[in-house]
Amino acid sequence: MSSRLFPTYNRSSLAFARGEGSWLYTEDGHAYLDFASGVAVNALGHNNDRLKKALLTQAEKLWHVSNLYTIPVQERLAEMLCEASFADSVFFTNSGAEAIELAIKAARRFQYKNGSPNRYRIVTFEGAFHGRTLGALAATGRAEYLEGFGPKAPGFDHVPLGDREALERVISEETAGILVEPVQGESGIRSLPPGELRYLRELCDENGILLMLDEVQTGIGRTGTFFAYEAEGVLPDLLATAKGLGAGFPVGACLATEQVGSAMTSGSHGSTFGGNPLAMAVASEVLSIILSPGFLERVQQTSAVLIGQLREIVANHPKLFNEVRGSGLLLGLKCNIPVSEVIRQFTAEKLLCVPAADNVVRLLPPLTVSEAEVAGAVSCIGAASAALEKSLLAGNVRSEDSAH
Ligand SMILES: *Cc1c(COP(=O)(O)O)cnc(C)c1O
Repeated sequence: MSSRLFPTYNRSSLAFARGEGSWLYTEDGHAYLDFASGVAVNALGHNNDRLKKALLTQAEKLWHVSNLYTIPVQERLAEMLCEASFADSVFFTNSGAEAIELAIKAARRFQYKNGSPNRYRIVTFEGAFHGRTLGALAATGRAEYLEGFGPKAPGFDHVPLGDREALERVISEETAGILVEPVQGESGIRSLPPGELRYLRELCDENGILLMLDEVQTGIGRTGTFFAYEAEGVLPDLLATAKGLGAGFPVGACLATEQVGSAMTSGSHGSTFGGNPLAMAVASEVLSIILSPGFLERVQQTSAVLIGQLREIVANHPKLFNEVRGSGLLLGLKCNIPVSEVIRQFTAEKLLCVPAADNVVRLLPPLTVSEAEVAGAVSCIGAASAALEKSLLAGNVRSEDSAH
């Protein structure tokens, strides 16, 4: 069947009619265990009663007024985010890329306002993913995403992840900030080496540079702490978040310290839809659930169980899998066979996961996933692995060279 949509996505023909908790159902009633969560978005599963109530309650009152007026629910959500993080102020966006764009603008604007108008360059890392707008694409810096879109926006330097020499070489009087994901999601669940965030913080402080975190994927409890930086005890100056923030309602946010946020004076930025009451009402409810006592501890416990069982699978199927990566419920299985084959077989077992680069399958269950559902997923993976081993023996699947 032909589609009237831009052919930008290589979509599966699977279509879902409804969701409930960690499950998705097709029109004809087939149930799939959802360890994709709309790419780390549905943090609280599908059809969550509290989120539905928050949305419907707001929908009956007020949908939109624009940022020309005070929006109390927006003020309240900003207060919650600052209370729970390093930040003193917030700007709400509609997506991750917009939050990144604003982080880039705010870093440059802060330097400009503080007497360094030539400090506009942003350092980013190879393997990064920061989004698809022209600025975020330049920050991402990958040739395959930039092809055919004209000149790359200037002012970005890319260095290999963990290569301190290359990083220090690129830092100059023109550097405004260093933008980094605590765990690179799209490029295969690559965590920063332990201590690296602290080193980046010190490097920034020594050079008058801002530390900017892309927590679009890692934030809002995904790695087992509210923000991933907490695990390292290192505070950023700017942070972009989005995916889990609305748990399925489109919303993002750029968080900043007082000094940085205050550089974004009246008229310096804006968004028609950003901070819309519907999004604010849902995100406020998301935060009150995720920040409630015990919630994140439970995410960590579930994570430990899932990691343990995945490690066993890796040990039992060394031909198929190489290692388990990630933290919290942002996990990856590095594969020794093409990741597309693994996803295909998982789907055949009614388990949904997300491919990433570097031949990695991402497992991103809702943060509310139960231990029984984790056990269910593990048995799907076990069954899929047995089938994949057979295909490998029969020569129907080729082995990938995982040495590189
Ligand atoms: C998804 C993602 C983005 C882009 O977010 P969009 O909402 O798709 O614009 C940026 N950075 C990271 C780390 C992401 O995972």
